[in-house]
Amino acid sequence: MRMIKSIKELREALCGERNKNKTIGLVPTMGFLHEGHMSLVDRAKQTCDIVVMSIFVNPIQFGPNEDLASYPRDLERDTALASARGVDYLFTPSVSEMYPTVNKTTVTVSDVTESLCGASRPGHFDGVATVVTKLFNIVQPAYAFFGMKDAQQVAIIMQMVDDLNMPVTIVPCPIVREKDGLALSSRNVYLNEEQRRQALVLSRAINEAKDAYAGGEKSAEALKELIVSVISHSPLADIDYVEIRNYPSLTEAAIISGQEVLIALAVRFGNTRLIDNTVLSPVKEEAACFAQ
Ligand code: AMP
Repeated sequence: MRMIKSIKELREALCGERNKNKTIGLVPTMGFLHEGHMSLVDRAKQTCDIVVMSIFVNPIQFGPNEDLASYPRDLERDTALASARGVDYLFTPSVSEMYPTVNKTTVTVSDVTESLCGASRPGHFDGVATVVTKLFNIVQPAYAFFGMKDAQQVAIIMQMVDDLNMPVTIVPCPIVREKDGLALSSRNVYLNEEQRRQALVLSRAINEAKDAYAGGEKSAEALKELIVSVISHSPLADIDYVEIRNYPSLTEAAIISGQEVLIALAVRFGNTRLIDNTVLSPVKEEAACFAQ
């Protein structure tokens, strides 16, 4: 695996790969890698000849009171994990490499960014869309791999790619969970033992809503109430939002009648904000995917 910090050096290396007709796949991350990230690498290796992983904690997607400074980082461990999993290029630019001057250009996707996490984290998705655009321009991948853990992010990136005719195929990948159901996240390390135990309420609430839907409940309001009541049994859980929306348009869904809908939650445990979701799909149910 080649480690590269410079945009120029990465471009030159990838130009060489493209000249050899290699298909390039990009896995963008903020590091502190776990099996969720690794599942994206596995998926990328199935589709592409060359896998580029980026690790960049993107300052412009964090709000002023968010966890930019404390976001977990361990480049040495990440390097070993990425290399063992078969990443070809690990791109780890500094903030000054990515933003040598104050950005005067921001990519803003409207509508799909306004609800859910966009409502709780103003400006967050401008930062995401801007850095992903920069990474696409730097790497010029044929494919880019994103986890459905961030289902709204997937909807936004797909919209952006469509709207701006970006020559990349977005590949959404299923959520990887711990055996007990907790969705893997770099932020899970912030949880103390009791918070970690109570955090299981997210996946439990989602599963209960899925069961109720399978049992015939089609009212989004009723499913939301069910989720809120399950979560309220965990005294440490502080709900940010529980939403049921059409996917990927993220328009409001009142009745679920065969269309694809997203059930999405964000819940705080102390200072840690966790998200989880599922897509109810008339044709394909999300396959269960567990960490090794
Ligand atoms: P992050 O490093 O948190 O920005 O995540 C980088 C990529 O990994 C994003 O596309 C995430 O959606 C994806 N990802 C994070 N956690 C998981 C998970 N538990 N399962 C699948 N993908 C994930």
